[in-house]
Amino acid sequence: MREPLIARMREFGTTVFAEMTALAVRTGSINLGQGFPDTDGPPGMLARAVEAIGGGFNQYPPGPGVPALREAVAWHRKEHYGLDYDPDGEVLVTVGATEAVATSVLALCEPGDEVIVFEPFYDSYAAAISLAGAVRKAVTLRPDAGRFAFDPDELRAAVGPRTRAILVNSPHNPTGTVFTRAELSAIAEVCREHDLIAISDEVYEHLTFDGVEHIPIATLPGMRERTVMISSAGKTFSVTGWKTGWICAPPALTSAVQTVKQFVTFTAGAPWQLAVAHALRHEQPWVADLRLALQGKRDRLMTGLAAAGFEVLRPSGTYFVQTDIRPLGFTDGLALTRELPSLAGVVAIPTQVFYDRPERGRHFVRFAFCKRDEIIEEAAARLATLGEAARGER
Ligand code: PMP
Ligand code: GLN
Repeated sequence: MREPLIARMREFGTTVFAEMTALAVRTGSINLGQGFPDTDGPPGMLARAVEAIGGGFNQYPPGPGVPALREAVAWHRKEHYGLDYDPDGEVLVTVGATEAVATSVLALCEPGDEVIVFEPFYDSYAAAISLAGAVRKAVTLRPDAGRFAFDPDELRAAVGPRTRAILVNSPHNPTGTVFTRAELSAIAEVCREHDLIAISDEVYEHLTFDGVEHIPIATLPGMRERTVMISSAGKTFSVTGWKTGWICAPPALTSAVQTVKQFVTFTAGAPWQLAVAHALRHEQPWVADLRLALQGKRDRLMTGLAAAGFEVLRPSGTYFVQTDIRPLGFTDGLALTRELPSLAGVVAIPTQVFYDRPERGRHFVRFAFCKRDEIIEEAAARLATLGEAARGER
C-alpha cells in the first residue's frame, strides 16, 4: 500500500506534548512539560456550564458561535483594548486557538505562499502551514539582555514576493517574551509595507507579569484591518479541555476563515460557549488573581531552577520558563528531557523541537509553572539533585 500519510505531513510525528505527558504518566514523574493548569477555572463559570447542560443547551450552536459569547467577546475587546468588533461578522468562535490558527492559515494562504514565524514557534503553526501547502520562514528569537528577542533586519530580510502573512505570538510560547511596542511596531511596519496579514495568537494575553502589559497588534496604526486576533478561554480561565477560542477580524477575513471552519468542525461546545460568555463579563477579578498567583509560581520555580544550577531566563508572560542547561554540564535538551524522569522524576519540554534550525535551541529546556505551589516545590527539590547527577555522568 502507498504510505498513507500525505508527504507534507510526514515530518510531524506525535506532538512533543503528547510524548512528554505520556512519559510523565509512565514514569510517575512531575509533569512540568505540557502546559495545563492543575487547578480549575472560576467556580461561577463552571456552574454556568453545568446549568447550560441541565437546561438543555446541548444542540448545535450557530456556526459563528453563540450570540451571547460573540457579544461578550466584542464587549471585552472594547473594554480592555478599545477595539471595536461587530459581534455579527467580526467575531468567530472556534475550537480553541488551535483551530483558529489552522483555519486562518488554510483560509488565507495559497499553496506556495510564505508565512513568517518566530522560532522557537508553537508546534501547531508548522503543521498548519504545511497542511495549507504554504512555506514557513522562521525568524529566530535569541536571548538578549535576559529575554528572547528578534532582529528587525532579520524580519525584513525574511519577506519575499510570496510572503502572505506573519504569525505573531505574544505573549510568546515557549519563550515567555511579551513583545514591546517597538517590536510590534517593527512587525506592523513590515505588514503595512508589504500588504501582509498578521495572524496574531494572543492566547496568553492576560497572563503577563511585573506590570508588563500585553499590546494587541491590532491596536497599532493600520493593523486592525489586516489582523486576525486569536484568543482562548483555555488559558484565560484555566479550562484547556474546553477548547473554546475565537478570532476577531474585519468582515472579509472573518468570513474567509468561517468558510473553512464550517467544513472542519462547523461548530462546537454549546455549553462552554455560554459559560465563557459569562466569564468574560464577570470573572475578570478571578483572572487578575490568576495572573498574580502565576507570577508567584514563576518566581518560585525560577528560584528552584537557579538553585539546581540552570541558567534561567525570566519570562514576562505565559506560564513557561526557559532554562539554559549548559551550566549543569548538559548540552542537548532533547537527550536531557528524555533522561530527566530517571535523573530527577520531572518532565520538561526540549525547546529545540520548536525550531527549523534545532541547533539554535539545543541547549534550552522549557518548564511549565501553572501548577500548585507544593508541586513546584517538590519539583524544585527533586531537580536540586541534578547537579550531582550531572557531575556523576561526566
Ligand atoms: N497557541 C499557543 C501559543 C499555545 O500555547 C496554545 C496551547 N495552549 C494554543 C495556541 C492552543 O490553544 P487551544 O488549547 O485553545 O487550542
Ligand atoms: N499549549 C500547551 C503547551 O505549550 C500544550 C498544548 C498541547 O498539548 N497541544 O504546553
